[in-house]
Amino acid sequence: MRTLRTIAEMRAALGDARPGLVPTMGAFHEGHLSLIRAARADNDVVVVSLFVNPSQFGPGEDLARYPRDEARDAHLAEAEGVDYLFAPAAEEIYPSGFQTWVEVEQLSQPLEGALRPGHFRGVATVCLKLFNIVRPRRAYFGQKDAQQAAVIKQMVRDLDLDLELRVLPTVRDQDGLALSSRNAYLSPEERTAASALPRALATKDPERALALLDGLDVDYVEVADFDPRVLAAAVRVGRTRLIDNVVLEEGAPT
Ligand code: AMP
Repeated sequence: MRTLRTIAEMRAALGDARPGLVPTMGAFHEGHLSLIRAARADNDVVVVSLFVNPSQFGPGEDLARYPRDEARDAHLAEAEGVDYLFAPAAEEIYPSGFQTWVEVEQLSQPLEGALRPGHFRGVATVCLKLFNIVRPRRAYFGQKDAQQAAVIKQMVRDLDLDLELRVLPTVRDQDGLALSSRNAYLSPEERTAASALPRALATKDPERALALLDGLDVDYVEVADFDPRVLAAAVRVGRTRLIDNVVLEEGAPT
């Protein structure tokens, strides 16, 4: 596996290849690895991007303390047979003078969008840039971030992007908690409290879910009419904000 830092290096390495792309912010866990394995199975060439995207973090969010361990991530990616790890510096993606942004207007409004203004503008913009840099035939996302998957799907459709999105099921720990790089912030007591979140969502009923989240700081528990429809929730446990969702339709990724 080669780790590449610049857009020019990435383009030169790929030539005319149309790879599978797994966009990530690193601190890999089995959720990331499930996407990487799917990409490995479907594509001749696999690119994983590792970029903690500053534009999707609001002021006062966890950009500075977001877990970073590139050496460990590179080791894990290599073991999965990844061809290229694209790990640019922030200035490579947002050089001075950068001023063009993608807004997926309606899908970015509710839930995460309401609580994290500008978040999906940052997500959509960085994904479009990664798609232009890597020119993937397929790109892989997790159902864990249901609204993100919906926003990117809409952008692909609206801007006629020539790639296929694959959205894979949420990978969970034994206690049901969805794997997340942010779980590393949780103390053992907070972790126990957080495990109420998947139990609440498993009811597939917003009122029963809210009752089971009693005592936690709940940002929202709502049915969202994404494709597929989900019951989505966000809670704060201490300083850590966790999101999760359960699919309400049969046959869709869970
Ligand atoms: P992140 O590094 O958190 O931006 O996540 C990179 C990709 O992995 C996104 O498409 C996420 O939706 C996906 N992902 C994160 N956690 C999980 C999980 N527990 N199961 C499946 N996919 C996940």
